[in-house]
Amino acid sequence: MKINDTIAAIATPLGEGGIGIVRLSGDAAKEIVSRIFKPRYAEFPLQSHRLYYGHIVDPISLEKVDEVLTSLMLAPHTYTREDVLEINCHGGIVPLKKVLDLVLVNGVRLAEPGEFTKRAFLNGRLDLAQAEGLLQVIRARTEEGLKVAVNQLTGSLSREIKEMRQQILFLLAPLEADIDFPEEDIPLITRETMKVKVKELRDKSLALLDEAEKGKIYREGVETAIIGRPNVGKSSLLNALLREERAIVTEVPGTTRDLLEEYINIKGIPLKVIDSAGIRKTKNKVEIIGVKRAQALVGRADLVLFMLDAAEDLQEEDREIVSLLQGKKVIVLLNKIDLRQQLTIEKVKELLGDIRIISTSLVRGEGLDELEEAIYELILSGTVEAERVSFLAGTRQKQALRKAKDFLEEAWQNKLNDFDILSSDLQAARAALGEITGETVGEDILDTIFAEFCIGK
Ligand code: GDP
Repeated sequence: MKINDTIAAIATPLGEGGIGIVRLSGDAAKEIVSRIFKPRYAEFPLQSHRLYYGHIVDPISLEKVDEVLTSLMLAPHTYTREDVLEINCHGGIVPLKKVLDLVLVNGVRLAEPGEFTKRAFLNGRLDLAQAEGLLQVIRARTEEGLKVAVNQLTGSLSREIKEMRQQILFLLAPLEADIDFPEEDIPLITRETMKVKVKELRDKSLALLDEAEKGKIYREGVETAIIGRPNVGKSSLLNALLREERAIVTEVPGTTRDLLEEYINIKGIPLKVIDSAGIRKTKNKVEIIGVKRAQALVGRADLVLFMLDAAEDLQEEDREIVSLLQGKKVIVLLNKIDLRQQLTIEKVKELLGDIRIISTSLVRGEGLDELEEAIYELILSGTVEAERVSFLAGTRQKQALRKAKDFLEEAWQNKLNDFDILSSDLQAARAALGEITGETVGEDILDTIFAEFCIGK
C-alpha cells in the first residue's frame, strides 16, 4: 500500500439522514474536485478551507448527481495532513454512493477502515494514544466517558508517557557511558539520584496502571447481572431501567446475528446488562433454570442485582443463589412491596448479612431512584470519578503499561547492583511505553488498531 495514493469513503453512517459526507484524502483531491464539481458562484481554483455551493456533475453523462456543499482543504492543515476534499451531499444512500463512484476513478481507491486516521498518525498529526482516544470519543457511552476520551484525544496520556520516556533516556545516558567506559568516572548522575528516579518511574507506572483499570468502567461499562427466581420481576426491572433516556443501544458489528448491546446510563456510568435478551426471552415461558442461569451470569458480572419477591417467603432457590454471591458487588432488591409482605428486610439481612437492600415496587415505579444511587455509590466506592481519570486505556495499552511497570519494578528491585541489567530493564520499559504512543509499534499492530475504526474515519 502506497501512503500517498488517494483514498475516499463515505464518512457518515449509512442510512437516511439530512446530509452525508464523502471524504477524500491525497494528491488527487484537487483534480477530482475540478472534474466533478460545478460551483454555482465561484471559479477554479477553489480556495482552501472554504465552503462552496454547487452541483456534482457526472463528467461523462453530464447528469447532475446531487446538490452539494464542497470544501477543499489543502495540506498541511487538514485531518490527514494531506489534501482533503469533503463533499456534503444530501443524506441517503443513493446520492452518496453515486458521488463516491464518481470519485473512485484512476488512482483513487476506497479507504480501509480507519485509514484517514492512520494517515493522520503516519503523518505525525496524532500519536497512537490520541488516535485510540479518538476511537473512544466515537464510542463514548455516556457524557462522562466522553469527557475522559476527549482529554485523551488532546494528548493528556501522551504527555505523561513522553515525559517518562524522556526521563528514562536521561537515566540511560550515564549508565551506558559507565558500561562502555567503566574506567572513566563520569559523574553525570549520582547513584542516589538514580535510585530515586528509578523508584519515581516505577511508582508512576503503577499509578498509570491503576488509573487504566478504573477507566475501564467508563470505557467498557459495568457488566451487570440481574438474577433471581422466575417471576420475581427481572424483566420488569430491565424494562424500567431501559425506559426514559437511560438506555443506549449499540450494535455489535461483525457478529452473524445482529447482536444488540444495551447500556443503561446510571449517572454517567454505563451499565451493560449481561444477557438482557435472555431475561426478556424467558418471559411468558416457564423458567426452570433460575439457579443455573444465575450461576452462569454471576461469574462474569462486575455487579449483581439480586431480586427477591417480598410477597413470598425465602425459598430453596433463593438460598442457592445466595451461595453464588461470595466476593461480588451485590445489591439486593426486595421487589413487589406493594403486595402483602411475607419477606422482610430483617429476614434478608439474616440471610445475607450486611448488604445494601432496596425495597422496590416495579408496578408502581418505586425504589428506582434509590437503586440508581446505590449502584453509583457501590461502583465508584474506592475508585475515582470521571474527572480524575484522564485516559481510557484499551487492552493493548494496558498490556504495554503492565510490561513497562514490570521492567521498572525489576530495575527498582535490582537496586543498581548490576548496571547491565538495569540498563536493559530501562530500555525495555522505554520501548514498552513507546508502544502506547506508537513510537515503537510495528505495522501489523497498527493495522489491527486502525481496523477497529469505521470506514471513513
Ligand atoms: P421475571 O420472570 O423475573 O423476569 O419477572 P417479570 O418481570 O416477568 O415479572 C413477573 C410478574 O410479576 C409480572 O406479571 C409482573 O408484572 C409482576 N411484577 C413485577 N414487579 C412487580 C411488583 O413490584 N409488584 C407486583 N405486584 N407485581 C410485579
